[in-house]
Amino acid sequence: MLAKRLYSTITSAKPVDGFIGAIGNTPLLRLKTLSQQTQCEILAKAEFMNPGGSVKDRAAYYVVKKAEESGQLKPGSGGTVVEGTAGNTGIGLAHVCRAKGYKCVIYMPNTQSQEKIDLLKMLGADVRPVPAVPYDNPDNYNHQAKRYAESLGENAVWTDQFDNWKANRQAHIETTGPEIWSQTEGKVDGFTCATGTGGTFAGVTRYLKEKSGGKVKAFIADPPGSVLYSYFKSGGKLTERQGSSITEGIGQGRITENLKPDVDLVDDALFIKDEDTIAMLYRLLDEEGLYIGASSALNVVAANEMAKILGPGHTIVTIISDGAYRYQSRLFSRKWLESKGLVDAIPKHLHKYIVL
Ligand code: PMP
Repeated sequence: MLAKRLYSTITSAKPVDGFIGAIGNTPLLRLKTLSQQTQCEILAKAEFMNPGGSVKDRAAYYVVKKAEESGQLKPGSGGTVVEGTAGNTGIGLAHVCRAKGYKCVIYMPNTQSQEKIDLLKMLGADVRPVPAVPYDNPDNYNHQAKRYAESLGENAVWTDQFDNWKANRQAHIETTGPEIWSQTEGKVDGFTCATGTGGTFAGVTRYLKEKSGGKVKAFIADPPGSVLYSYFKSGGKLTERQGSSITEGIGQGRITENLKPDVDLVDDALFIKDEDTIAMLYRLLDEEGLYIGASSALNVVAANEMAKILGPGHTIVTIISDGAYRYQSRLFSRKWLESKGLVDAIPKHLHKYIVL
């Protein structure tokens, strides 16, 4: 008799084509304690296992692929990809550009950490910090990125992750959604996650709703400082942003083009406080050995809430967008946690993890 397998079956033993070939097909993790407590299956898609370390590798690859298909970029001719972001999309794009031989130019607000600038430079990107001004100012980093790409003319593209919904959201319609459906064998009742560009939420929701004939419920999760919770709760009123959150990469002041085609698919919205996010982040480390970023911890809080709302016996899926590595100097620093008033939100027995 074969020994009981400790690890899940390897799905593909064949070699893949480098960085690009390693994007996607991430495992779906059962969170055991939360599942037991809610008597639901709480499953989290391990997007930190993408080769660039985040869910954004998928969108980065798709925006470049779409630019090649439309002729904006010519493979093998050293074109230029321009984006305005200091976050995971920039990192994903920098990797994809190296893998495909394109130049990568990243505009970002000059308020971003040196850590982020250095990482992008190490990945070969041409990093251009510009003054941090609001979106409606023509000197905002997004507009500068756009103008620069236009000034290059031929064989250059501004990837426009926020409003390039055809490619960003499409990555999740064609990959993340189908993976979740197949990994759960179609037994999925709820999906929830927070949104930055909205690509992940919209793409996965669109696919799961279509496959299930509308049965899968979709709850949008929202941090403080974002307007989506109040937008959906008020039946479509956009308000000013108020407050801020420790989460990075999520929260919105508007309905992005990624989200627009799918706003009618949102069944409900959940507001998740930073206190609950940080407590979950430490709890998942302790209970599951998972070292995840704050947006991911927020997503798991939302999945837990959704399980309580739908009741026992349901399967809820969410996203672990990235690991804690990019944020550890903050998330595990007592001083930083104190500055945010969050130390007491972490249960006492988990304070041993506050090591910085
Ligand atoms: N979490 C993190 C850490 C991210 O960087 C992002 C992307 N901004 C998201 C969540 C949200 O993903 P999306 O842009 O697909 O809404």
